[in-house]
Amino acid sequence: MYTAATGMRWPNQVAICEVGLRDGLQNEKKVLSVDEKLELLDMVTGSGIKIIEVGSFVHPKAVPQMADTERVVRQMTRMAGVEYRVLVPNLKGLERAYDAGITKAKLTISVSESHCINNFNQTPLEMMKGFVPCVEYAAKHNIKLSGALSSAWGCAFEGKIPVQQIEKIVLEYLKLGITELSLSDATGMANPRQVYEIGSYMVKTFPQVKWILHFHNTRDMALSNIIAGLQAGITTFDGAFAGLGGCPYIPGASGNIATEDVIHMLHEMGIATGIDLPKAMDTARKAQQMTGSQGESHVLKAGRCEDLTNEKARNQNNR
Ligand code: ZN
Repeated sequence: MYTAATGMRWPNQVAICEVGLRDGLQNEKKVLSVDEKLELLDMVTGSGIKIIEVGSFVHPKAVPQMADTERVVRQMTRMAGVEYRVLVPNLKGLERAYDAGITKAKLTISVSESHCINNFNQTPLEMMKGFVPCVEYAAKHNIKLSGALSSAWGCAFEGKIPVQQIEKIVLEYLKLGITELSLSDATGMANPRQVYEIGSYMVKTFPQVKWILHFHNTRDMALSNIIAGLQAGITTFDGAFAGLGGCPYIPGASGNIATEDVIHMLHEMGIATGIDLPKAMDTARKAQQMTGSQGESHVLKAGRCEDLTNEKARNQNNR
């Protein structure tokens, strides 16, 4: 008699953060208008997604796609119970975000020494010092902060990053009182075993941290990495509609894992997300249409498993 094997751990519920409006759009050639972004944002909230990264407050010249984040934030319809976060590189960005009405911001730092030195002429620890005024400002203005560790799973300069190097940055974030941390893989170098082993270690060593995993699907390992993350006990993941995106600083980097592919996989596995998948797929199609970019989304191409069986049943009935 068949009984389901035990041993792997599956949560009942997983949270998805939609980062398409920031990470997805920031690398697109076509810059969307404020109205287009607002339309996408409404569709995202309409699908039931509760955590949304709406843009970034970086220098407008550095990332022109994000130059109007201020206007998006000022004009967006805020739904109760939805967290709207933005990415900020420094105090100036945080101040602009706060002025626009933001109460949740994400700081980001590359854990790779060479990456930091090459791009910013500072070590990661030196860069962390720049976050101190951000933390003070955030405390004064009641802004919640989240911290991202980019290149955590691999770096174009350094290859694999030793776990001690990640841990060092985690400790620095904790010293600043930031306890929501995302391990980010813009280069698409993470593999499932690494995610399971390092993820498990981080969860065990830092139980006070709320962990988020952020995978790009550059080498088609992102869904597998999410499974490995679940096994490590992590239940919050970033995704971008239609799998849009890349990274302006990393040549050849492909998009984030498609939000709708993550939702579809989880629902097929009986894991709830609270998200309406057909609506998330509509959002992704709309994003494709607006950007003129296909991105990479399997469920948009093939449809849901559920649709396939429905169609078969329909065809049989018509015969
Ligand atoms: Zn990313």
